[in-house]
Amino acid sequence: MTIIDVHVHPIARPMVQDPRNLRLLEQGGGLLPEDAAGQTILARMDAGGISRACLLGPNPRDGTTLTNEQVHRMVASAPERFIGFVGVDPVGQGADRTRAEMERAVVEWGFQGVGEIGGEDLLAPAWEVVYATCMEKQLPVLVHVGIPLPSMSLRHSHPFLLDELANRHRELTIIAAHVGAPWIIETLAVAVRHPNVYLDLSALPAIRKELLPVVLALCSEQGLEDRVLFGSDFPVVDPGRYAQTIRDLRVPAALRWALRLPKISAAFKAKVLGENAMRLLR
Ligand SMILES: [Zn+2]
Repeated sequence: MTIIDVHVHPIARPMVQDPRNLRLLEQGGGLLPEDAAGQTILARMDAGGISRACLLGPNPRDGTTLTNEQVHRMVASAPERFIGFVGVDPVGQGADRTRAEMERAVVEWGFQGVGEIGGEDLLAPAWEVVYATCMEKQLPVLVHVGIPLPSMSLRHSHPFLLDELANRHRELTIIAAHVGAPWIIETLAVAVRHPNVYLDLSALPAIRKELLPVVLALCSEQGLEDRVLFGSDFPVVDPGRYAQTIRDLRVPAALRWALRLPKISAAFKAKVLGENAMRLLR
């Protein structure tokens, strides 16, 4: 089985500038590497049988010093394992530079997606260049939904923003990160309404791991089996252990009975762990 982690932040401790973010990232049980994030990530992938991981680019509000060039170097060091996603800052850099940065990442470096974006007003006109370029080049854009890092805005992290975005751009492939936790039901509603919205399961074990079987069963019940993606949110969650958690996952019988939930099939798990991502990425 091919397992793909669509949500990995290739950061090391010295890159994290905002002390509030550092405190939050350190809750992940000591996963934040001192340096050489790529090596740590590969080791965690190997431990969990994960074939490939999407390394996400910088976000102007994430309080780190990560650059797209650093992501490119990590991808180039293990191109059969890593897939690059380009970080963008259209408000700070303007439309022309943003488009050029995306072009370079896709054409020269072979990057296959955009993100993680979010924590600011994604409906502002400045962001349209990002969505237009994504649609032109058929790139998925991974959007943070749910409680963000302390340096980011909660107001702009609500799933209803995605509904607006998906209404405007029906051809834009959107990955809603963290299933929008804690707004999980609202985020599922957005995905039910919009066939171009995918969900990633990143960070859920760090938020409340008991929710995971319920979330997957609800996705199955709502007809979303082809649009759920495995993601860890490294360094918040250990990718290797999380992949194993999903392999072993069952909805406890009492919960299934109480909430009238369906079983989680092996076929659905295979879609979540890799098949859906393989279809989405080139
Ligand atoms: Zn996020």
